[in-house]
Amino acid sequence: MSSIKQNIEQVISQITSATEKCGRTADSVQLLAVSKTKPITAIKEAIAAGQFAFGENYVQEGVEKVQHFAASKQATQLSWHFIGPIQSNKTRQIAEHFDWVHSIDRAKIARRLSEQRPAELPPLNILLQVNTSAEASKSGITFNELEALADEIAAMPNLVLRGLMSIPQKADDYDSQYAAFKALADAQHALQSKHPQLDTLSMGMSGDMEAAIAAGSTIVRIGTAIFGARDYSNKQ
Ligand SMILES: *Cc1c(COP(=O)(O)O)cnc(C)c1O
Repeated sequence: MSSIKQNIEQVISQITSATEKCGRTADSVQLLAVSKTKPITAIKEAIAAGQFAFGENYVQEGVEKVQHFAASKQATQLSWHFIGPIQSNKTRQIAEHFDWVHSIDRAKIARRLSEQRPAELPPLNILLQVNTSAEASKSGITFNELEALADEIAAMPNLVLRGLMSIPQKADDYDSQYAAFKALADAQHALQSKHPQLDTLSMGMSGDMEAAIAAGSTIVRIGTAIFGARDYSNKQ
């Protein structure tokens, strides 16, 4: 069985070769290790391998991990990204513990995060989740709703709007993967005329990383390929 360290090295070499193929530098794409459902020990192994950015989907579990590592010697190097659906009664926990939120699709949630962000912390980095495949069942706003939500959130004092995120419909061929990611990158480009600070595109997972990077991804979110399959038996 391969170790977490070996898996991270493998994923980083995939990122590097994907960036080389499209003429980007390897450091223009950040690896977000998605550690949801995985124990503290697994995160420790990843940190020992030089991985410092982690993604979590469940508030309570994520907060426990943030708090655990808050006293560690790497604490200031670590960044914690909330990437799951958000209920309004959980915003305070997120505002108090995370550095990034990728999954914003409502002004109401963003407003609560801004109000609840502690004054001693830097502004919370925000990505808007866009539903690039227009599936009714998925979270995320449509392209048509994007500009109005971006304008509203960019004006909130304790947030900084950094970019967009998507979880496209699964596609096995490169061209359809690329088309979905390119649409998100184009939307970001259009928004940059009004919001020039936008610099982050969270797109690409294990199966579609190469297309995402060719389309301009700056954060790829990888879980299983680093930590192995997840066990959801203790989640409701
Ligand atoms: C779980 C999750 C991932 C990672 O998925 P893997 O298939 O394990 O790599 C990435 N992004 C989001 C939003 C997720 O919820």
